[in-house]
This record gives sequence, structure tokens and C-alpha cells, in this order.
Amino acid sequence: MNRKLIAGNWKMNGLSAEAEALAGDLARRYRGAGAPAFDMLLCPPAPAIGLVGRTIAGSGLALGGQDCHADPKGAHTGDISAEMLGDLGCSHVIVGHSERRQDHGETDEQVAAKAAAALGAGLIAVICVGETLEERDAGETLDVCGRQLAGSLPPGANPDTVVIAYEPVWAIGTGRTPTVDDVGVTHSHIRGTLSGRIAGAERVRILYGGSVKPSNAAELMAVANVDGALVGGASLVADDFWAIGAACG
Ligand code: PEP
Repeated sequence: MNRKLIAGNWKMNGLSAEAEALAGDLARRYRGAGAPAFDMLLCPPAPAIGLVGRTIAGSGLALGGQDCHADPKGAHTGDISAEMLGDLGCSHVIVGHSERRQDHGETDEQVAAKAAAALGAGLIAVICVGETLEERDAGETLDVCGRQLAGSLPPGANPDTVVIAYEPVWAIGTGRTPTVDDVGVTHSHIRGTLSGRIAGAERVRILYGGSVKPSNAAELMAVANVDGALVGGASLVADDFWAIGAACG
């Protein structure tokens, strides 16, 4: 069984004071817990990364970005390179989140290029896949996830360089989740897809994301092939995010 990773995607939330308070609270809890049974990753919005990094220094919490550009530098106004994230102390970066795929029209090919840039900068790429409600209703969940995954994996992907997050689009921020049986089937399919492409695929961490909260975390984290959670809304509340970690057993 893989060690669980609980990742918080703060999205576009958190001014300096809130970010510092939330990160400081979690850092104190993580440090105070001695040897927590789970890894915890904070992915604040880009302007807060430096501040959060300084706040959690020495706590054992990991720091990540929410996106990166595929190029290491250049004329890309408003974008952030993987190297810049690494320079700020990030060890991870989320790529291919459905909000990026939808809001910015990101394709699997672009996600793979971003993931490759992440690996090139020494970061771990947290690659998101997941079906829309229409695709789910059409019975296409496994096809969509398999296709997105195959198309989004960068060359050189291995258990130490990539994490996969299965996030059904219809479950994000809606309070709805798939059944634990459905989560198990999709995670198993993702594991199988990885097996054909990555040596040691059983060690790749596959996170579930989509309306994870303290009340459903234990049952979701107990599903086979679920190696942690990518958490949006509940990661903004220290008590809730911490409770999700504690549910890892
Ligand atoms: C997310 O956006 O990655 C996410 C899982 O959001 P939420 O937990 O709010 O559904």
C-alpha cells in the first residue's frame, strides 16, 4: 500500500493574511503530530507561494503550484515556469486540472508538455484526469480517463515523478461524489493504464478528488488504489483539511 498524500488545491483563494494563517495552522499541526501517517501538500495561488513556503519551512509539509508553463522561460506574459516554482521551494505542481482544461482549453498534449517541464525542473507533476457529467452518463468514464491519462503522461514518468489525480468534473465543488464502488473501478482502470506505460506502476500514487470532506474521507481513502486525495474547498479550512488527513488511518 502506498503512503497517502493529501493535497490541498487552494485555487484562486487566499490573500496574504489568510494564506499565512492557514499554512501556519497546518504546519503547527503537522509538526506537532510527530510522524503523521500521511504526506500533506499545499498548493496556494501563485502570489502566495513564497509566503506559504516561508511559513511552512521545516514543518514537513510540501509546497506545490497549481499550474506551470511548458517552457522554462520566455515571452509568456502572466505565466509561470516550473523552474520558478522550484525556485520558490515547490516540490510539486498540479497540471491538467479540469478548470484549466475547461477555462483555458488545455489539451492532453499541452498537459503532457507541462508535465514534462515539471519533471525537467525536478518537480513532481500531479496530473489530473476526469470525466464530465455527460461523459459519465454516456458510460464513457473509463475511456475518457484512460485516454486523458495516456495523452497527458510525459516521457520519463515514473512513480517518483508523477502523481495522478482522478477528479470527476461533476464532483468538483458540487458536494456530489461517485460511489466508492465507482471510485474503485476507475482507480483500478487508471492503475491498469499506468501498468502498460510505467515500470513500477503500482507505486504511482493515484489521488481521488471531488468534494472530499471530513464526512466522506475515511470511506474514500479506504478504497483500493486510492492513495490520497486532492482537495479543493475543504482544504481552505484547517480543521476540515486536517480531518481528511487524519482519516487516512
Ligand atoms: C479540486 O478542484 O481539485 C477539487 C477537488 O475541489 P473540491 O474538493 O472543492 O470538489
